[in-house]
Amino acid sequence: MLNIVLFGPPGAGKGTQSERLREEYDLVHISTGDVFRALDPTSELAKLAKSYSVKGNLVPDNITIQILEGEVSKHPEALGVIYDGFPRTTGQAEALDKFLESKDTAVKTMISLVVPEDELKTRLIARAEVSGRADDADSEIIQNRINTYKKSTAPVANFYKAQDKLIEIDGVGSIDEITGRIFNAIETIK
Ligand code: AMP
Repeated sequence: MLNIVLFGPPGAGKGTQSERLREEYDLVHISTGDVFRALDPTSELAKLAKSYSVKGNLVPDNITIQILEGEVSKHPEALGVIYDGFPRTTGQAEALDKFLESKDTAVKTMISLVVPEDELKTRLIARAEVSGRADDADSEIIQNRINTYKKSTAPVANFYKAQDKLIEIDGVGSIDEITGRIFNAIETIK
């Protein structure tokens, strides 16, 4: 299975590039952020998740891991999965390894999109116009998401680096240029 963790800070382009990867390699795309946003808003789970996401904080690991595993299990025939926005903590990365091992598979690579902080903020503010996401529109929430990324999520790259699975990609340029860089990287490990 071609299991790819698409990694990077908020605004790095993970969602856009995940769609390109999904089409090219016929993979299933799972974004935990999208899954949280698609929950029935009247459910307790949705309310709980939203109480964290509106502030730009991470939803606790136990909830997130359960959601992710449920989503993966919906696609037993998948040729591979793109994990977009997951894992965001080392605990989630460890849980994913265990979960995939139980299915006789593993993460093949982590593609990490590298984008400077100023560019991220500009992109998120612009995205708010079309995404309608409240967490994209408020500069304090954006800053908190970036800080949370630096503190809790960035260390996840080391987890995959230690397994020799980390590939860093320059995430600045046109969407097509970045897609090209990602496809080239994947061809080297396939
Ligand atoms: P995203 O769409 O990836 O930017 O995620 C939006 C929000 O959903 C995040 O700010 C978090 O509150 C929550 N979220 C998404 N994925 C995760 C995750 N893997 N762990 C914890 N919280 C998450």
